[in-house]
Amino acid sequence: MSQFPSLEAALKHFFGYDNFRHGQKNVIEAALQNRDILALMPTGAGKSLCFQLPALLKPGLTVVISPLIALMQDQVDALTDNGIGATFLNSTLNLDQARSRIQSIFNGKIKLLYIAPERLFNEGFQHFLLDVYQSIGLAGFVVDEAHCVSEWGHDFRPEYRQLTHIRRRYPQTPCHAFTATATQRVRQDIIDQLALQNPSFHCTSFNRPNLYYEVVSKGSKSYTQLLTYVRKRRGQAGIIYCSSRKKVDELADRLQQDGIKALPYHAGLADGLRADHQEQFIRDDVPLMVATIAFGMGINKPDVRFVVHYDLPTNLERYYQESGRAGRDGEPAHCTLFYSAGDIKKAEYFIELKEDEQDKRIAYQQLQKMIDYAEGSECRRTIQLSYFGEQFLGNCAGCDNCQNPRPLEDWTIEAQKFLSCVARCRERYGMAYIIDVLKGSKRDKILQNKHHELSTYGIGRDRTKDEWKNLGRSLLHQGLMLESSDGYRILKLNDLSWEILKKQRQVNIPIERRQTAAEILGMGDNHLDAEILFGELRQLRKQLADANWIAPYMVFSDATLRQMATRRPRTQADFSLISGVTSAKYQRYGEPFLAAIQEFCATQAPPKPQVNGTQLITFQLYQQGLSVIEIAKQRNLTAGTINEHLATLLQSGEAIDLDRLVKPEAQAEIEQAIATLGPVSLSQLREHLQEKYSYDAIKLVRAKLIQQSA
Ligand code: ADP
Ligand code: ZN
Repeated sequence: MSQFPSLEAALKHFFGYDNFRHGQKNVIEAALQNRDILALMPTGAGKSLCFQLPALLKPGLTVVISPLIALMQDQVDALTDNGIGATFLNSTLNLDQARSRIQSIFNGKIKLLYIAPERLFNEGFQHFLLDVYQSIGLAGFVVDEAHCVSEWGHDFRPEYRQLTHIRRRYPQTPCHAFTATATQRVRQDIIDQLALQNPSFHCTSFNRPNLYYEVVSKGSKSYTQLLTYVRKRRGQAGIIYCSSRKKVDELADRLQQDGIKALPYHAGLADGLRADHQEQFIRDDVPLMVATIAFGMGINKPDVRFVVHYDLPTNLERYYQESGRAGRDGEPAHCTLFYSAGDIKKAEYFIELKEDEQDKRIAYQQLQKMIDYAEGSECRRTIQLSYFGEQFLGNCAGCDNCQNPRPLEDWTIEAQKFLSCVARCRERYGMAYIIDVLKGSKRDKILQNKHHELSTYGIGRDRTKDEWKNLGRSLLHQGLMLESSDGYRILKLNDLSWEILKKQRQVNIPIERRQTAAEILGMGDNHLDAEILFGELRQLRKQLADANWIAPYMVFSDATLRQMATRRPRTQADFSLISGVTSAKYQRYGEPFLAAIQEFCATQAPPKPQVNGTQLITFQLYQQGLSVIEIAKQRNLTAGTINEHLATLLQSGEAIDLDRLVKPEAQAEIEQAIATLGPVSLSQLREHLQEKYSYDAIKLVRAKLIQQSA
C-alpha cells in the first residue's frame, strides 16, 4: 500500500480509472483490513476490481475460486494485458505450463491465482497451497459467484461445499465472498458454509442507472419491429433472448437473410459450434446473438449495448439478471421487452406441465409479477427493485414509463360494456371469448351457447380486438376484475367491477403510445463527429485485439473509446488522462490510437474548443466533488483560472453541472441579459447586470449557452 498515496492513485495505476464505482472502496478497505467479507453486488457494479486491487496491494498470493473456466481465462487475459501478474490453474493446461506458472507464483510475479473449485481438493494442490502459505504467504481466498455454495440458490455446485475444509485448514486467511444474487436465505447459507467470521457485509443497490428499460408491445408484425430495432443499432453488440431452441434457430436464420450478422446459441448446438459462436460474439466478429437462456452465465462481455427479450421471461428476477448483461461497462444500454398478452398463454402451458402443485403455484405467482411489470404504467425500475426489497421512488428518467408516460383515457363506458358481458356470460369464459361476443362473432361456440341472443352481443364493434384486449388487461392489472389461476383464466367480477357496473366508479386506462421512447432517444443525436470517430476507434481496437489474440474489450472499454472520441487527446499526457488508460496500456496501444485520432482530426474541422491536459486535471477534481476554491488550492492556481478551465470544459460539452457553480436564479438573470444584449463583451454584460455578478459567473453561463447552441 505504501507505494501509493491513496487508493485512487493505486486504482489509476493498475486499472487506469479515476474514480471508484459506488460501493467498491468500502469493500476494498475491508479487504485491506483482512476482514472476512460478504459482498452482494449486481452485475456491472465492478466486483472483480474489489478483490483484484487488494490482491495487488497485499503481500502474498490471493486465491480466487471461480466456477467457470471461460470466465477465469477472460479475467486473467484482461489482467495480463494490463501488465498485472495473474494466472489460472485448471485442467486445460499441460504439465509444463502448470509448472512454469507455479514457478512464477513462488517468484512473486503472480499475485492472483484463479482456480476451479474441484482443484482445491486435489492432493498435489493441497501441498502446493501449504508451500505457498509457508513461503510467500496466503493473502486471502476469494469466492466468486458465492451463491453456488447454497442449495437454495439457482446454481448450486456441490464442489463449493468443500470450501469449508479449506477454511478450517487456513483459519487465519481471510475469505471474501462475492455474488450478484442472494436472497436472505442464500446469504445466510454463504456465511455458514464458508464459515465467515464476523464478516464485513456489503450490499450495493441493485439499481443500474445506465440501463434504459422499456416494454414494446408486440403486434402481428413483431418481426418487422425487431428488425427495425436491430437495424437502428447496427454494429452494436446485442443479445436477443427467445424461449425455445426452435425460435432461436428460426429467428437467427431470418435475420441473416435480412442481412443482419447474427448467430444462434442454445444447448442443442454441438459444443464446438456453440463455443465458436460465443467466441465470435466476444471478439466482435458478430455483434448479435440470438439465444435461449443457456447463453449468458459466464459471458464476460462488458460492452453489450442492448438485450431484447422477444418472449416473456418466466420471472422478474430472471429478467433482471438476463437484461442486466447489458451495459456492464457503465455506458448507456437498452433493455427491451417485446410483450404481447398472447405470450401469457404459452407461459401457462409450460407451468401446467409441472407436476408438483406447490411449484405450479409459485410459478403462477412469479408469472403474475412478470405480467405486472410488462403491463404496468409505473416506473419499471420501481417494480424491479421492489422485487429485491429495495425502495425506489420512481421518476427515474431511464425507463419508458417515466420518459414517455402512456396517456390515460377515460374508458368507463367500454368497461361497463365489457364487465356486463362477463356477467351475462355467467363468469364462465376467458377474455378471447368475451371479446368475440362483444364484437358479434359468429363462432359456433357462441351460437351453440345462444350468446348471440345476449344484449351485449355485438355492442363492441366500434373498437378493435386489440383495444378490447388492452382494456381487459388493464382491468385485471388495476384489480377491477379477476381471472382464475387454474390455467383456464376465466374472468370473474369482484366488488370493484360491480361498482363500475353501478356507475359508481370511473375507469381510466393507459393507451398505446404513438412512438416508443427508444425512437425518441434515438433521434436528437448531434454528436455525429464523435460517433464517427468512435466507430473508427472501435475498428482499430478490433484489429489490435485480433493481433494480440484477446477480446476487443480487453484492449480498451467502450467507455474509454468514447472519452477518446469526445476529448481527442493529442499527446501522451492527454491520452493518459483518459479513464481506463494505464501506463501499460499506453505503451501497448497509445501510438496507434493517437495516430488514428490525429488523422481523424486532420480531416475534420474541430467542432469545439480543444480541452487540454491542465483543464482535464481540473475536470477530474471537479468530478470528485471539489469546489472551485478547493481545486484552486490543491492545484496552486487562482480561482479565476479554474473557472476559466471550467468554462472551456462546459463549452466543449463535458458534463459540468452549472448549478454547482452558479445559482439557478443568477443563471436565469444572466441568460436573460445575454438574450437581450446579444454577442457583447463580458464587461458590457456585467454592467448591464449592475455588477451584481462576477465575470466568472457570466463567463460560465455564456459558455453553457454557446455549447447548447452548437
Ligand atoms: P461484475 O463482475 O460486477 O459484473 P466486472 O467486475 O466485470 O463487473 O466489471 C464490469 C466492468 O466495469 C469491467 O469492464 C470493469 O473494467 C469496469 N469497471 C470496474 N470498476 C470500474 C471503475 N471504478 N471505473 C470504471 N470502470 C470500472
Ligand atoms: Zn422509471
